[in-house]
This record gives sequence, structure tokens and C-alpha cells, in this order.
Amino acid sequence: MLPTKGYAAMTAKAALQPFSFIRRDVGPHDVLLAITHCGICHSDIHQARDEWGGSIFPMVPGHEIIGRVTQVGSLVTRFHVGETAGVGCFVDSCRTCPACREGQEQYCEAGMLLTYSGRDKDGQPTQGGYSTQIVVDEQYVLRIPSALSSAGAAPLLCAGVTTYSPLRHWGVGKFHKLAVVGLGGLGHLAVKIGKALGAQVTVLSTSERKRKDAARLGASDFALTSQPETFTKLQRHFDFILDTVSAPHNYNDYLSLLKTDGTMILVGVPDKPTLLEPFPLILHRRRIAGSVIGGIRETQELLDFCATHQIESDVEVIPVQQVNEAYERVLRGDVRFRFVIDLSSLA
Ligand code: NAP
Ligand code: ZN
Ligand code: ZN
Repeated sequence: MLPTKGYAAMTAKAALQPFSFIRRDVGPHDVLLAITHCGICHSDIHQARDEWGGSIFPMVPGHEIIGRVTQVGSLVTRFHVGETAGVGCFVDSCRTCPACREGQEQYCEAGMLLTYSGRDKDGQPTQGGYSTQIVVDEQYVLRIPSALSSAGAAPLLCAGVTTYSPLRHWGVGKFHKLAVVGLGGLGHLAVKIGKALGAQVTVLSTSERKRKDAARLGASDFALTSQPETFTKLQRHFDFILDTVSAPHNYNDYLSLLKTDGTMILVGVPDKPTLLEPFPLILHRRRIAGSVIGGIRETQELLDFCATHQIESDVEVIPVQQVNEAYERVLRGDVRFRFVIDLSSLA
């Protein structure tokens, strides 16, 4: 029984507040991390406000977790006390279904065990990284390359792998024109990763003030989605569109920007559905697809890729006491480009 301090939403409508709870003891296969940093993902906000349904309260959000290993179980082989390690969006899965065996635990047939707002084998709700420490089976813990800073690496564990996984799955690379819709936490990493994979990246944004950032991040082009001429000028221009937008918007407008056989990949999860029109799809044999985070092996691959390509998240580091203000600023699109909580503020 490990007494732990955190910040929690007690109900869907409540601001986050200090919250004490118990983590399980370190089992033979477990690693205990003293959390140093945790990113704020827009999914934390969706779930803390129960916008997708099924949220479990009280909820300590946070699934972009970096910490120092302070204890390991007797059978742990991959981690040592003192190392920096990471935990992403899930902390367990069935380990036996075809998806788990292929290292695609995010598509586990029994459902992955979410890092927070999930229910562990003992029936206890899982709690996330806006907290002082976490106990996780070593199979679900990531190695953090020493070339990466802790704050800059934290968002790679969700935002990073969520964009890397579909870009790799669909083979996005040299000679491809890629549009990234929405320049937020996911979007800015999609630009960096897409560029590193060799694609020519265009940012499609609602925010004129992000034009310069897009170029600095590696985009070769920028267009405003509020301007109708964007949709005429860029007709049939892209091989791939990666849509990271968190709010409802019209997918049909974007489909017309794809070439014949182009693919639009949804990773953003608006809380309301969009009506899909058949014509933009059938006339040019276009596809619309979706993707959720990435498996453990792929997340490790992404972390190593980022170390090689010197990719980190652009972060604004805050104390946990500012988390509610940070949520409001994320909702206003006022962050460059990820808030990361410094958990020393909870000590
Ligand atoms: P974020 O930092 O808030 O970025 C979202 C971006 O969407 C904003 O920066 C903004 O970019 C754009 N946007 C916001 N409202 C818009 C509107 N009404 N119309 C058009 N564009 C709008 O959020 P995030 O953390 O990157 O997450 C983005 C979405 O991905 C969320 O829904 C999140 O839950 C989801 N997500 C999915 C996965 C997955 O596995 N599939 C993983 C993590 C997160 P501009 O200012 O450039 O327009
Ligand atoms: Zn996330
Ligand atoms: Zn499974």
C-alpha cells in the first residue's frame, strides 16, 4: 500500500483538486516510478469532463508520464533503480490475443487497461500521472533515451506515438504530400515526425498566429481553413491527411483535398459525430481511416527515432497547481504546444 498524492477531478463538472490515494505494492514484475513530468493531453480534458462517456471518478488524469525508477520487483530484468523511464496510455492488456502477441496492445481484443479511468484486475480504478508515483508492470514501461529531456519526451508517449503510428502504418515518407490538420499537441509532433520521415508537410489550421510556428517546426506550407480559397487551391493535392482536431468539423471538406486513392486518417476525437457524404469518397476512390495511439514496441521505436532525429515536444512546463488554468488555455488553443506538469510541485 503506497500512499500517493495527486490532482483529481472528483466529478465530470469539477475543477481538478488535490487528492490522496493508494497505489498497489511493487509486485515481482513491477517498476515503481517517482514521477517527474507528465504532459497534459487533450484526451485528459475530454475524459475529466466525461465527454466520451464511461469516465471513472475520482480521476487522476495523465498518460504522458516520465519518472525515475525508485524500486523494482524481484523478477524485473529490463529496468534498474535510478534510470529514467516512461509510461504512456495503457498499463496492461490481455497479453495473449493476436494483437497483443504482435505488439499492438492498443488493439487488444479484451481491451487495453488504460493508465487512468480503467479498472485493474483487482477491480480498483487506475490513476494517472498527475501524481507523485506510479507502479507499472515492466512490460508496459518505456526506456527513455538519454538524448531526450524529460519534459520534452513526456508528450512523445501519447501525442508522439499517436501520430507516428499511422504515418508508419500507411508508409508516409519521401515523395508524399502530407496535410496535418490542427496545430496543437498532436499536430506539432506530426509536423516534426512527418518531416523526419521525408514527407512534404502542409499545416491546415484555424489560427493565423501559428503560421510562423508551422514553418519553424518544419512545414513547407500553411493554409487557413477559415478561408474558402484554401479548399479550392488545394483540391486533390495531398496523398495523406492526418486530422488531429479535437472539436467537431466537416470531414467532407478535407476529403476533397486528397488525390485519387488518398487517405485521410482521423486521430482527433471530437465529442460529436460528423455526417459523411459519399461523393468526395467515391469519386476519387479516397479512404477515411482511424488510428489509436501505438503499441509498446512501436512507442519504444518512436522514442529511439526521436532521439536519433533530435525531436522533442515544444513544451510549457507548469506546476500542478496551474492545471485548471492550463485546461482552459488548451481549449482556447493557447499553448505552444504542450503543457507538461513538473511534479516536484506536488512533493
Ligand atoms: P490540442 O493540443 O488541443 O490540439 C487540437 C488542435 O485542433 C488545436 O490546436 C487547433 O489547431 C485545432 N482545433 C481546435 N478546435 C478546432 C475547431 N473547432 N475547428 C478546427 N480546428 C480546431 O489537442 P491534442 O492533445 O493535440 O489532441 C487532439 C485530439 O486528438 C483530441 O481530440 C484528443 O482527444 C485526440 N487524441 C487522440 C489520440 C488517438 O490515439 N487517436 C491520442 C491522443 C489524443 P489550430 O489552432 O491549428 O486550428
Ligand atoms: Zn493522450
Ligand atoms: Zn490482448
